[in-house]
Order: sequence, then C-alpha cells, then structure tokens
Amino acid sequence: MQASFGALSDVGLKRPHNEDSYVADADLGLYLVADGMGGHAAGEVASKAAADAIRDFVRETHHDRDKTWPFAMDPSLSWLGNRLRVAILVANRVVSQRIDGDDQLRGMATTLSAVLLDGDRAVISNVGDCRAYLIRKKLVTQVTTDHSWVAEQVRAGLLTPDAARSHPWRSMVTRALAGTSDLVVDILEMPLESGDLLLLCSDGLHGLVSDDEIGELVASHTRNLDQACRALVDSANARGGPDNITAILIRCP
Ligand code: CA
Repeated sequence: MQASFGALSDVGLKRPHNEDSYVADADLGLYLVADGMGGHAAGEVASKAAADAIRDFVRETHHDRDKTWPFAMDPSLSWLGNRLRVAILVANRVVSQRIDGDDQLRGMATTLSAVLLDGDRAVISNVGDCRAYLIRKKLVTQVTTDHSWVAEQVRAGLLTPDAARSHPWRSMVTRALAGTSDLVVDILEMPLESGDLLLLCSDGLHGLVSDDEIGELVASHTRNLDQACRALVDSANARGGPDNITAILIRCP
C-alpha cells in the first residue's frame, strides 16, 4: 500500500517570490523540500533544478537496476540509500552546470530534505537547514541534523535552541547544493511503523513554529494531511511569514 501525503508551499508574507520547490510522488515514494538561495530569481532556479534532477534520477532507477550511475555506490548503504544519495549528487552537478551556463546564476544554491520510501523502509537525507521530523504516536523527533552555523553553536553548547531561533545569523547554512565537488550527503536509513508521520519542511516553518507546536497542530489535523499542512503554513504566517514556507506530511500505511 502506498503512503498518503499532504503538501503545501506558500510564499509567506514578506518575500516577492517563492524560492522553495517540492516533490511529492507516491508512485516513486519520493518526497522532498528544496529551499533555494541566490539573487534575482536564481533561488527558484536552484531549488527547481535540484528537485527535478532528483525526481528524474529516482524515476530512472525505479525499475532499472542495470543503469550506469554517474557516481560510485557507497557500500555501507542499501540500494535505496544509494539511489537517494546519488540522486542528490546528480542534482548538485546539475546546479553546477546551470551556473556554468549563465552568469546571472552564479552563487545560487539550494538546501533540501528528502525521503525515499519503499514499503516500511525510509531513507532520509538533508543538506543545509531543511528538516525531516518523525511524528510517532504524537512524539515529534527531528531526525535530520541542521547544517547551519546556529545549529553548530547549539551542538557546542554555546547557544540555546531558543536563542538560535532569533539569532541574526540563523539563516547561515554550512552545507548546500552549490555545485561544488566537495558535497557531503548524509543518509539515514530507518524502518517505519504503521501510522508514523514524516514531516519535511523548510526553515520558513521550523524557524517560527516550535517542534511542540508542530506536534500539536499535526495532532489536531491527522485525518486530513493537506489541512494539517495548511495549519502549519498558517501558523508561520501568523508570526509574520518572513520567509517562504513549505511542508509535506507523509503517513506510513
Ligand atoms: Ca528559507
């Protein structure tokens, strides 16, 4: 049985463009949120190019195990984990090619979080400060590690999570798909239980709405995941909506 999902992306209240992109494809088992950065419309280009490239690679490898991959497999990961990891490396290369082909796009980049599902197995990845959360029996757990300056300060015990949320450098990421060849991709493999929810979101949500509030909002809309995403977006906008906001909720059958 396929997972069910809800998804919503919103420009917010302050930004002229929505530079977030997302993919929610139950047939492929692929869900991702990408948060683009760059001047003019470059952020939109980066997040869309990365999202499309990941979906294309996951689609091409959905049935075809003989396809030649452009990057080596990591023997410590499963087939599913390798598919997501290489898809992200391919996306990073696409970002590089787009930058090389257009001076206006120099400096563009995107962060992302992604889930690839196969039955009750999930592989999860993030680059930068897009997050994935597991919501199991109403308990909300962030399963990705933010690659951001404030998160590193929190891990070092130099900032509290509350102080990080209002810190002027809170948007500074330490990892992104910027087309450089040194990209490191973290892959987490985990079994899911029936009824588990996964939430993917950009920092326009988690920067304004706490994990506890996210849990409460989702718990009060569990029957309709689109409405749950709407409630999350509305909550960020009620706090000023300074950034683009994207949320995808996936329920394991
Ligand atoms: Ca953002």
